[in-house]
Amino acid sequence: MNIAIDGPAGAGKSTVAKILAKKLNYNYIDTGAMYRALTLKAIQEGVDFNNTNSLVSLLETTKIEIIHETVFLDGKDVTSEIRTPEVDQKVSITAAVPEIRKEMVNLQRRMAKNTNVIMDGRDIGTVVLPDANFKFFVTASEEERAKRRFKELTDKNYEVDYEYILKEISKRDKLDTKRKVSPLKQADDAIIINTNNKTIEEVVQEILSYIKGEAIM
Ligand code: C5P
Repeated sequence: MNIAIDGPAGAGKSTVAKILAKKLNYNYIDTGAMYRALTLKAIQEGVDFNNTNSLVSLLETTKIEIIHETVFLDGKDVTSEIRTPEVDQKVSITAAVPEIRKEMVNLQRRMAKNTNVIMDGRDIGTVVLPDANFKFFVTASEEERAKRRFKELTDKNYEVDYEYILKEISKRDKLDTKRKVSPLKQADDAIIINTNNKTIEEVVQEILSYIKGEAIM
């Protein structure tokens, strides 16, 4: 069984996917974390983000692994380091490079082989796992998503302001939806889950009702 969850930044995909994975005893694969890990390395190594070739060669010498929700970059745990505002700001540039996407998609498909997975990202239902048993497109208004991201960052003691986050979310959405290769897009057969004004548990139950066949698709 494969379950694909796509949607824009801050829609709550990963929170919901993690809970679902526990409830269903599936492996959770956060594909955004893979693009984030490479972006973190590029920042650390001072790579010029306008130079696509440098980003591609960086990937050739980089090992990214996700083991039980822990993200390893060349063997080092970077699970929290990949969620900084600096990585947020650059990740969509890395993710728009076709050669990088090709490698990541191969890696993601290998991870999904022979096991039950819930995978979240932007192109899971459209490109990575087009034959997934269930596809969900989890979304919320830009303001709601910015509010959640603002809370997440301030809870971690980052000094950010709401207007900045809102602008960054909007910019990232644009880059992700307008890029040429596998843009953020709802798969034709995806079920839309709008999370505005819903609690995490309500969203989890809504998705579970589809998986259990209690809701009509
Ligand atoms: O899901 P998350 O916000 O961590 O993803 C970070 C970024 O990685 C996205 O904004 C997008 O640019 C990229 N991404 C992607 N395809 C995926 C997952 C993430 O392009 N499947």
